[in-house]
Amino acid sequence: MAEMKKLVIGNWKMNPSLEEARKIAGKLHERLAKEKNLPEVIICPPLPWLIPVKESFSNHILLGAQNAVPGKFGAETGSVSVGMLKPYIQYLIIGHSERRLSGRETHETIALKVRDALKQGVTPVVCVGEFVPLYDKHRRRGRPTRKEAESNIFMQLRRALKNVPLTDFSKLVLAYEPVWAIGTGESASAEYVLQMVKRLRKTLSRLGGRRRATRVRILYGGSVDAKNAADYATTPGVDGVLVGTASLKAPEFMKIVSAFA
Ligand code: PEP
Repeated sequence: MAEMKKLVIGNWKMNPSLEEARKIAGKLHERLAKEKNLPEVIICPPLPWLIPVKESFSNHILLGAQNAVPGKFGAETGSVSVGMLKPYIQYLIIGHSERRLSGRETHETIALKVRDALKQGVTPVVCVGEFVPLYDKHRRRGRPTRKEAESNIFMQLRRALKNVPLTDFSKLVLAYEPVWAIGTGESASAEYVLQMVKRLRKTLSRLGGRRRATRVRILYGGSVDAKNAADYATTPGVDGVLVGTASLKAPEFMKIVSAFA
């Protein structure tokens, strides 16, 4: 079986200015053009910067969108569809915890987006993650709190992949992003990520079969930086990272990229 290429995705969220976006992309482009054997590198700029970044730097930087609605055209004031973005993007982040929370995205909406992205030839990056640590040696014994139960990542995964055709299964990318680690500087330990990735892969096997599950790239996301990237790069079963804050600094992001080379 051919080895899967590692994947490093930068999620710029609602940052930076257009001028700054051009500068960061320019620096990345320069470095990526020079270096060989790098992982696949994807940048997800805010929507209005997608086209300027694409037009200037498309040779060595692939792009993803942070959000899009299913379909192509329609009466949806303020929305941008997967079909409209398709000429510019290869990847689409779906189910990020910030959208699950502030965008109030339901499991059904997320599943619809996953199926539509696949149908339109865009790779879904399906995000799942728990709100509080599930394995914590200091954690009290007993029943999970309601919040823990609601945020059960395995349920999130099952529901996000509902009715995904088995033939499309191996095209998926899964981002394991514990919510408590996102933007907090409190990254999950490599040991913790190893446990969770194993369990996620097992759930994928149940849903799509073992062979297909091994083809799904699983990324870790949550306060990844230049210092801890190597820990995840050497964790078995981790096929890359989804990076927020640190992707806004080109030199730091390139160090993360290099850790996965
Ligand atoms: C994210 O937004 O998906 C993320 C992981 O952010 P950060 O790297 O800042 O924790």
